[in-house]
Amino acid sequence: MSDIRHNWTKEEILEIYNRPLIDLIYEAAKVHREHNDPKEVQVSTLLSIKTGGCPEDCSYCPQAARYHTDIEKNDLMTVEQVRSAAQDAKDRGSSRLCMGAAWRNVKDNDEFDQVLDMVKTVYDMDMEVCCTLGMVTENQAKRLAAAGLYAYNHNIDSSEEYYKEVISTRGYGDRLETLSNVRKAKLTVCSGGIIGMGESAEDRCGMLLTLSCLNPHPESVPINGLVPVAGTPMGEQEIVSIWDMVRMIAVTRIVLPDTTVRLSAGRTQMTDEGQALCFLAGAGSIFAGDKLLTTPNPEFNKDMALFSALGLTPKAPYKKGDKPQIDEAAYKARPENAEKIKWSRPGHTIEKNVAASKKAKTPNA
Ligand code: SF4
Repeated sequence: MSDIRHNWTKEEILEIYNRPLIDLIYEAAKVHREHNDPKEVQVSTLLSIKTGGCPEDCSYCPQAARYHTDIEKNDLMTVEQVRSAAQDAKDRGSSRLCMGAAWRNVKDNDEFDQVLDMVKTVYDMDMEVCCTLGMVTENQAKRLAAAGLYAYNHNIDSSEEYYKEVISTRGYGDRLETLSNVRKAKLTVCSGGIIGMGESAEDRCGMLLTLSCLNPHPESVPINGLVPVAGTPMGEQEIVSIWDMVRMIAVTRIVLPDTTVRLSAGRTQMTDEGQALCFLAGAGSIFAGDKLLTTPNPEFNKDMALFSALGLTPKAPYKKGDKPQIDEAAYKARPENAEKIKWSRPGHTIEKNVAASKKAKTPNA
C-alpha cells in the first residue's frame, strides 16, 4: 500500500504531474483502490447562508463587494431556512451540508451564535455539517465543534507564490493559521484550491506540496475548476481543460492517498465522460444541487443518472464512526474577552483586481 507522506518535494510532485496522462490515471486509480472504496462517492450540498457583500478581493469571486457582478447581496439566513434547505438536500441524497458565509472572518457576535444554532440543527438531522465562514480563531473553531460541526473548509486556493496574484486582502499565513485552529478544535479539515486562474503547473504542485506538509493531511481536498464570472478580474479567463482537471485530481490522489478528493466547482463545464475519468482518477466526492454558493452546478437527477451508469453509490454520513459529541454549554458560551487576533492585510497591488473594482464604480465606462 502506498505510504502517507509529509515529506514530498515540489520536484517529486512535478515529476508525477508531468507523467503521460494514461499512466497517471492508472497509477492514481490503483492508489485510490488501496485506500478508498472506489464505488462510494460522498455527496455534499453547498448552501450559501450569507451571500455577497464580502470585503475581500479574491479575483475569482463574484461575492466580493468591490466587483460589478449580478450577485444579489443577502443577509444571513434564518435557522428555519437552513433546516428546510438541509431537509431538501438530505431527501436528495446528500450526507453532508456545507454552509458558506461571505465573511472575511468570524466575529463573536449574534450572527455567529445564529450559525452555531444552524450547525446544531443540521447535526440533529443526522447529516455531517461543514462550514466555510472565513478565518476562525481557535476558540471559534472549538465552539463550532461543540455545536456538532464535523468539518471546516478554508481553501488555500493556490501555491503561496501565485496566491499573491489572486488576493491582496488576506495572507497565505492566515489561511494556514485558520487550518491550524481548526485542527486544534479536533474538526476535520477541508482545504484545496482552484485551477484555471492562470497559474503554472509548478503552482498547482506547490499547492499540493503545502497541503501534503500538513500533518495530518486534510481529510478533504476540493479541486475546483475556475468558473469565470463576468465582472470579476478573472471573468475572461479560459475554462480549464478536462485533461488538466483529470491530471490534477490524479496527482492529488497520489500525493494525499487517504484524503477525499472533491470534484468541486466547474462540473457543468465537463461532460459525463470527463467526470467519469475524474472518478476513475480518484475523485471521491461531489457537490450536489443546482448551485455551488453562487455558481451553476449539474442538476441532482443528472448526477444520479451518472452514478447509476458508473455503478457509484452515495456514501452514508459518519461512515468512520466519528460523529461529534455536542457540548451545548461550550458552544453557547460567547467569550467575554474575544480573542484579538490581528489577521493580516498584505495590501499589495494586483492590477487586474484594481481595474475590475474601478469598473464597478463606473459601470458604463
Ligand atoms: S472567496 Fe470568500 S473571502 Fe474571497 S471574496 Fe469570495 S466570499 Fe469573500
